[in-house]
Amino acid sequence: MKLLEDRILTDGVVLGEDVLKVDNFLNHQIDPVLMQEIGNEFARIFKGRGINKIITIESSGIAPAVFAGLKMEVPVIFARKHKSLTLTDNLYSASVYSFTKNVTNEIAVSKNFLDASDNVLLIDDFLANGQAAIGLIDICKQAGAKVSGMGIVIEKSFQKGRQIVEESGVDIASLARIEAFVDGKVTFVKEEEA
Ligand code: 5GP
Repeated sequence: MKLLEDRILTDGVVLGEDVLKVDNFLNHQIDPVLMQEIGNEFARIFKGRGINKIITIESSGIAPAVFAGLKMEVPVIFARKHKSLTLTDNLYSASVYSFTKNVTNEIAVSKNFLDASDNVLLIDDFLANGQAAIGLIDICKQAGAKVSGMGIVIEKSFQKGRQIVEESGVDIASLARIEAFVDGKVTFVKEEEA
């Protein structure tokens, strides 16, 4: 998605070997106009698959997921990372290791909102090593729900997430695919390879 790639080139900051900071439009300050374009693009890509629900993880997946949900007119669930007074039992849960934060979170979705009748689109902000994706896929499996696809805003194609998600049988679409960070600059996977 050209608009997103241009924004990454303008505002993305490469941290170390393998982390991209995009907190001026996605991870802290949010650009709703760009998020709406992103949501519309996910809706276009996954149209016609009978999807009735979107699942993401708090917090940075919520903005793109909500705009996709708005266009697709389906509800959006965000898996919670933190224990909540109001979300204590009746949960599907999975452990997710975060390599950017170096912690393992237990993510959870209430059984009230997901069951075997659901046909789910997963959405997340980044795909790195695929741990968040596998956690979400596992939660859907526990519910007996069908996963009809995964939409990623920014994929770092030099990490193993895509391979892991594909091996689990889930169809994945990423709006920007980063091939490498070269001298602190982002390069993208070329169209014909994408
Ligand atoms: P994975 O589970 O695929 O290893 O990592 C995906 C999660 O880690 C995303 O939900 C995102 O929050 C975070 N993440 C991974 N890589 C990056 C990155 O380069 N930049 C930012 N901002 N977040 C990342």
